[in-house]
Amino acid sequence: MSKRDYYEILGVSKSANEKEIKKAYRKLAIKYHPDKNPGDKTAEEKFKEAAEAYDVLSTPEKKQRYDQFGHAGMGGAGRGGFGGGGMNMDDIFSQFGDIFGGGGFGGFGGGSQRRRVKGSNLRIRVNLTLKDVVEGVDKKIKVRKLVLAEGVTYSTCTNCNGSGQVTRISNTILGQMQTSTTCPACNGTGKKIEKKPPGADQNGMIQKEETVEISIPAGVEDGMQMKVSGKGNAAPVNGINGDLLVVISVEEHPDLVRDSSNNLHYDKYISFSEAVLGTSTEIPTVSGKVKIKIEAGTQSGKTLRLKGKGVPSVEGYRTGDILVHINVWTPQDLTKEEKQFFEKHSDSENFTPNPKKSDKSFFDKVKEMFG
Ligand SMILES: [Zn+2]
Repeated sequence: MSKRDYYEILGVSKSANEKEIKKAYRKLAIKYHPDKNPGDKTAEEKFKEAAEAYDVLSTPEKKQRYDQFGHAGMGGAGRGGFGGGGMNMDDIFSQFGDIFGGGGFGGFGGGSQRRRVKGSNLRIRVNLTLKDVVEGVDKKIKVRKLVLAEGVTYSTCTNCNGSGQVTRISNTILGQMQTSTTCPACNGTGKKIEKKPPGADQNGMIQKEETVEISIPAGVEDGMQMKVSGKGNAAPVNGINGDLLVVISVEEHPDLVRDSSNNLHYDKYISFSEAVLGTSTEIPTVSGKVKIKIEAGTQSGKTLRLKGKGVPSVEGYRTGDILVHINVWTPQDLTKEEKQFFEKHSDSENFTPNPKKSDKSFFDKVKEMFG
């Protein structure tokens, strides 16, 4: 499935400015709008394609990523995107207020089709430890959400006679257009509440606490948002549930720090004599301690790598490492005897720095930065 170039889809040049991009999209959106092309699958595809192109090219950071990496940079289920992929009609229409300056077109599904209202999304925050992130975790979370109250009954909306749509004439940049818009009295459902139990709101909904089980994949990052479809607020009449948006919050680990390539970093301090004589020591991982050997003559700044002990990528293709940064502690307070020991050896050839390329912490760090 090769995707068309976003600039090509909108028919603009790479140097097009915000205004030109908007104008080009507006033209296509009008041309391929589902209300003007009922039942035309090709038009619908073109409509979606244009919306996606506009979404990317009108969002500075997405545009920059696209200009730099092309479609690969948009990564279907990429970082922070969770199941990304194209746009749905709701997303597209929610963008329209901006394009047509409010009003203009109504929702998808014109004609006499009744609209199924979608419940609103709920947003919750879930706190994870680094261990949860490395291993993935199933969480049970209590959510207060709107559900339809028992005993609600409906009657046909008198404003639209149950069609859910009202027709109106509007002036657009391409002249007068007749558009069907959602009936404001019933919100497009074609029905109005007849009876509702006490405690229910004007839509016949009540608040209820529910436990939702969510499975969080390994590799998520602080600030990421996961969408759990259909677990948000319910909608009146025969509506569709909204989604539950789960915002990931990761607690700081006392010893390990994660970087953008899923490696974990640990600062290990060893004594001067351990550096000289070598030692064996323990390094914390999220699942317990791991023993490592520090060779005699280890230089400060050396990096040791524990392969595969870092964080798996959320796409599941690679697991990071733990990088142990060796810091040699230089003694600051010495007894007279200790001081004499060093003074005695200060001219020793063995104490004179003579770094080989492989010893230089600098090269390790540069490799780390660019590799
Ligand atoms: Zn109505």
